[in-house]
Amino acid sequence: MEKRETENRRRCTMIVLAGGSGRRMGADLPKQFLKVNGKPLIWYALHAVEQSPLVDDCILVAAKGELPYVETQILDKYDFRKVMALAEGGRERFESVIHGLQKLREIKGAEKAASRIVMIHDGARPFLTEEIIEACFWGAEENGACVAAVPSKDTVAISDGTGIEVAVPDRRLLYQVQTPQSFRGNLAYEAFDKLAGELRGRDRLDDFSWITDDASVVAHYTGFRIRLVEGDYRNIKVTTAEDLPVAELFLPKK
Ligand code: C5P
Repeated sequence: MEKRETENRRRCTMIVLAGGSGRRMGADLPKQFLKVNGKPLIWYALHAVEQSPLVDDCILVAAKGELPYVETQILDKYDFRKVMALAEGGRERFESVIHGLQKLREIKGAEKAASRIVMIHDGARPFLTEEIIEACFWGAEENGACVAAVPSKDTVAISDGTGIEVAVPDRRLLYQVQTPQSFRGNLAYEAFDKLAGELRGRDRLDDFSWITDDASVVAHYTGFRIRLVEGDYRNIKVTTAEDLPVAELFLPKK
């Protein structure tokens, strides 16, 4: 990757999401806190953040009921100096993102928060590397909004919802989207503030099931075009039980 001028770069905050219940894993503890090679899964993403010269600070989002656990078993136990605050998780991932962004604005003030690069990363993706962070940082710096992605290796079929295939898009155009998803702060706030406004007073979130990632929120509310930057096939989201042995195999064994 070409060397860039980093001295006058924008400040950067990583919002790490650990607010999910991890229901698909079938374990008692949410997947992001399961021990893998002796460390809670979330440790690995936080460690990558800690090591990155491009990320200045971090907000960790966790479910309300898990906050005491995160305080004692993650933050007190391991010395993550960049984690400047904990935010309370929401009912859906996008609500957790809203809470993380609001916390950042509380801490830094609206103007500074909007002038940063804000990256959003799934705590359940332990294989975050400096290369991916770099691609996402410069992708947002230069284009405004980007996501880490890899070309789809598999053919992807669209079904009619009953198990019948109705279309097979050209695989050469298909990418699997990962995190981090990275934005100039002003775009992230414009989009997620609008979403928060629409959510106000709503008990049900069914109308928002089209939101599958952060870039779709930014694209929807700002009309901004999202750049795909190079992710990594290893940057998997540990989601179901069969992902755990894969994580064990490839994560460092200390
Ligand atoms: O459920 P899913 O695998 O899509 O979750 C992706 C990430 O978002 C996980 O790291 C999870 O902890 C987080 N999440 C969250 N708040 C929710 C749901 C998921 O922070 N309400």
